[in-house]
Amino acid sequence: MPDHHPESLVVLNRPSAQAPAHEPNAAAFRLVDPRTPVLSALDQGATRGDGVFETISVGHGRPQSLEHHLRRFERSAAALELPAPDLDAYRAAIGAAIAALPDAASAWAKAVLTRGVEGGESPTGWVYATLAPDHTAVRRDGVRVVLLDRGLRHDVERTSPWLLAGAKTLSYAVNRAAQREAARRGADDVVFVSSDGFVLEGPTSSVLYRLDGGIWTPGTGLGILDGTTQSALFAFLAARGVETGYRLAGPDELARADAIWLVSSVRHAAPVRELDGRPVPVDAALTAEMNEYLAELAE
Ligand code: PLP
Repeated sequence: MPDHHPESLVVLNRPSAQAPAHEPNAAAFRLVDPRTPVLSALDQGATRGDGVFETISVGHGRPQSLEHHLRRFERSAAALELPAPDLDAYRAAIGAAIAALPDAASAWAKAVLTRGVEGGESPTGWVYATLAPDHTAVRRDGVRVVLLDRGLRHDVERTSPWLLAGAKTLSYAVNRAAQREAARRGADDVVFVSSDGFVLEGPTSSVLYRLDGGIWTPGTGLGILDGTTQSALFAFLAARGVETGYRLAGPDELARADAIWLVSSVRHAAPVRELDGRPVPVDAALTAEMNEYLAELAE
């Protein structure tokens, strides 16, 4: 990254009200030079991926869908039995990280909570913010997607909660490996399918598809994330009179869709233009409207 890339870093003194502060009389958080090392080599976030995070879009200086992100952050922490994040402290830290950017017209902020240093008493928390990359091309031209088996049944969240499916943990090495597999297969992104044959989500996105005039997503309870972007887009679509809902669907249903999108914070709505090598129609007009809506989304 170039030397003067606008970015900011805020370290929380007390990320959870259920655990002691790092420094008893210090301020709630401190703004630090983002290039200064702040993490211990013994932090379990680094050594075990034992922590949770949220990546939040910032539009016109405001964090978007902030409360939905914070609810999910809290749920992910609970799934890992971490001390509960102090959401007021994170709200303030996210605000401070954004305010420290010279221009937050289009940016993102990443909030992290880890189990802290091995043997310590306090979790580690920080918020990093920087400008969003230009995603204009991918939002317009779309992505080529492959279906990959996630190797977990669709009901794994209920049967095997220790697998943490559906929690946004720091352990994204598997998601990154899946994206490399997509590249090996000549594609740009992935849609995971459960081992018992249900469409799930992308490694960093929710799946939306249009079929029979309605727009559908696999929904929650399937070991996948409750997407903030998907939820915002359902509100947008419902206001336009489009039927929306949750469907347990196999890849055959996805293959019959007349439009598919991968949606997520920061990249927003990327139309799928190819699924396992077969072309998928792109609704350029609706995709552009979705992305305009997401760019203007308020808190
Ligand atoms: N599913 C996974 C696995 C993700 O990592 C993400 C976001 O990064 C999403 C879905 C989409 O969530 P959101 O729209 O809240 O960014």
